[in-house]
Amino acid sequence: MKKMSELVKKYYYCRICKKNHSIKFPVNFAENQKRYPFVYFSIHKYTGNSDENYDKKGSDIITTLYIDKNLTIRDVDVAWEDSSTNIISEYDTQKLVGFLIDHINELQDAYDSLMGKYTKLVEGLEEKDKRQKI
Ligand SMILES: [Zn+2]
Repeated sequence: MKKMSELVKKYYYCRICKKNHSIKFPVNFAENQKRYPFVYFSIHKYTGNSDENYDKKGSDIITTLYIDKNLTIRDVDVAWEDSSTNIISEYDTQKLVGFLIDHINELQDAYDSLMGKYTKLVEGLEEKDKRQKI
């Protein structure tokens, strides 16, 4: 079975920056979606590589990715972030929130596991310390 925390790096072409960007997905990200391709939103900063939009360097670009079952990016849509328009539908917002919650849970698990290891390590060191003093 594939681990939840495993990430897959994918590339997509951004017509605003005129270059490829990379994005990472959990390996099982495409599983159990209601429809394919499914929509995923991401935001990246404009890098200012193309002269025509140089004044917008550092501005947010909303990236809409259409991802299929195999985690292949089928289509990409990029748009300047404009907070006056509500471009993200409620449905997709819920999906995004769901993804973030899953992610938070994974991080929590990783944290608990690390904390457990750390506690054991500290206990082990204290034990060693005591023995050395005797
Ligand atoms: Zn870009």
